[in-house]
Amino acid sequence: MAAYSTSIKTSGLHHVTAIGGDPQRNADFYLRTLGLRLVKTTVNFDDPGTYHLYYGDQSGKPGTLMTFFPWRDAPSGRHGTGQATTTSFSVPEASIGWWQEHLAATGVATSRVRNAEQEDVLTFRDPDGLQLALVAHPQGDPRDPWDNGHVPAEHAIRGLHSVTLSVSKEDATVAMLTEGLGLSFTASEGNRIRFSAGDGGPGALVDVLVTPEAPKGLVAGGTVHHVAWRAPDEPTQAAWRQELVERGVHVTSILDRQYFRSIYFREPGGTLLEVATDEPGFAIDEPLLELGRALKLPPWLEPSREQISHLLPKLNLPSENNPEPR
Ligand code: ZN
Repeated sequence: MAAYSTSIKTSGLHHVTAIGGDPQRNADFYLRTLGLRLVKTTVNFDDPGTYHLYYGDQSGKPGTLMTFFPWRDAPSGRHGTGQATTTSFSVPEASIGWWQEHLAATGVATSRVRNAEQEDVLTFRDPDGLQLALVAHPQGDPRDPWDNGHVPAEHAIRGLHSVTLSVSKEDATVAMLTEGLGLSFTASEGNRIRFSAGDGGPGALVDVLVTPEAPKGLVAGGTVHHVAWRAPDEPTQAAWRQELVERGVHVTSILDRQYFRSIYFREPGGTLLEVATDEPGFAIDEPLLELGRALKLPPWLEPSREQISHLLPKLNLPSENNPEPR
């Protein structure tokens, strides 16, 4: 890529979307085991017979969101290059031990390491084999957690920490991250190169893992579908899109995702990326206290509500997902 003076500068991760298996098992794991809040129950707008479940903090702020297309008969994918192979969440430093015990008590095997950034890292898998990590950053994380979930607020997940992108070679991916998203190089250790967005820190980090010997990944059950980055608003997103087009990046038109607007493009290493707006957010079609409780459909799918509801298995949510008004 030529040296551009970039104006694209994302402030960090918006959400990570993965493909899951059974929706109830998926909801039980992310709500009960990890203590997140279900902030929207909707469908995959491109495949309305499948749920799209959004987990996050109380209001589903950008940077706290992990979303799933849970699909009972999803064939298993393969972890490998051209994928986001690990999705990491941020937790307080003093809480890693608590999480280790909590996950062990629920039958989840973990492994604990300290990385080159002096972060305490607990890695494990979700019920569909998706590779996850809880990371305690030495500088802490100022974000407030969802304080009414299944996990005590003092230990609760603060939001996304980072994603790891696995690539067979790094040059073109690095160019896309730095010039196409405005990230900066932060550090490198062995075959891992870290980049940060905006002010950096949890929620604004991506690690590029260079593994030429690894198999090529296959996106299906238990793998990440795409990684979304933040744009503050629609005019900024439109300007960034234009800039990507001028650089020869194949980028989709701006799509209405109801809770944000999205564009998608692939980084040269193979991972599908998205730029999503911070606005309008999840309170656009239901009150904050009721987030996630009812099936919400965008206006263009509302006429098919009956058929769609028929196709979707019923979900049983923990009562604290929707607290009664105090
Ligand atoms: Zn997305």
